[in-house]
Amino acid sequence: MAEPIFNRLALIGTGLIGGSIARASREFGGIAKTVVANTRSQKSLDRVAELGFADVCELDPAKAAEGADCVILCSPVGTYAALAEQIAPVLMPGAILSDVGSTKQSVIRDIGPFVPDGVHFVPSHPMAGTEFSGPESGFADLFKGRWCILTPPPGTDETAVTRLDTIWQRMGALTARMDAAHHDRVAAIVSHLPHLIAFTICGTADDLADETRQEVLKFAAAGFRDFTRIAASDPTMWCDIFLNNKDAVLEMLARFSEDAQAMARAIRWGDTAYIEDKIVRSRKIRQSLIELKQA
Ligand code: NAP
Repeated sequence: MAEPIFNRLALIGTGLIGGSIARASREFGGIAKTVVANTRSQKSLDRVAELGFADVCELDPAKAAEGADCVILCSPVGTYAALAEQIAPVLMPGAILSDVGSTKQSVIRDIGPFVPDGVHFVPSHPMAGTEFSGPESGFADLFKGRWCILTPPPGTDETAVTRLDTIWQRMGALTARMDAAHHDRVAAIVSHLPHLIAFTICGTADDLADETRQEVLKFAAAGFRDFTRIAASDPTMWCDIFLNNKDAVLEMLARFSEDAQAMARAIRWGDTAYIEDKIVRSRKIRQSLIELKQA
């Protein structure tokens, strides 16, 4: 087994993503000698201890980060500024500070000012997840075959970026590097807009008259069921994502709304060619995803 890249890895937030990193570290090796788990509440931390996938459990984020050569923030993106301020004084020179947040410009804006000299800040976003949250929802294979995008700000130490890249690869992820603004636009279309649509369609169904709503639930077809799975995601996390990727989400939503209007017009006027062309293009996208093993 490869030598661990890090001596002490601190996970600030140990729910689905943090819990999966800890489990992957234990199962695949080559990541960290010691994994420290931190959560906001004692209740979650007790659950982490019971599940036993971390070596050390620590309720105080600064104590968790103390002595760590890699600290990864794994809580909702809206919590990052306060957490970065709290842990900054204990970060060791040469340590890597990273995160797994779903938005990247906001993370650089919120964490950047607190990064002490000599600490390497390497933001990352594993494009993997489920609708479940909390320490019990994680699993070691979550990142296998999924992309993890690193968005190091210009001038970031290359050795630090490579070390972080290596642990993601050891967790089974495919890694890529991107500028944070570009990441946010990509994430807006592949993840944030689909969630926005899922939350909206579930809301629309829920607003229907009582009798119809019962029938929606009773006869839910695969299409609606798939939306409800996506819409079951954590409210705080998603509220944070929308507010912290506002520009890109609103831009993609505007484009989507225009396209939906064009589809409505084609249906109204019986424009079969337009409708079929849209569906054929969508099927091709699905086929490409299957070929890329991302389906
Ligand atoms: P999660 O399962 O809900 O876990 C969140 C963790 O953060 C918990 O340990 C929680 O502690 C802690 N936490 C919450 N609020 C906090 C605060 N104010 N201060 C300190 N810790 C706090 O969430 P997750 O799904 O792992 O998501 C974590 C991050 O990963 C988010 O930034 C999200 O954008 C990103 N991400 C998520 C997915 C996904 O599909 N879920 C995919 C990629 C990236 P308690 O349990 O005590 O509240």
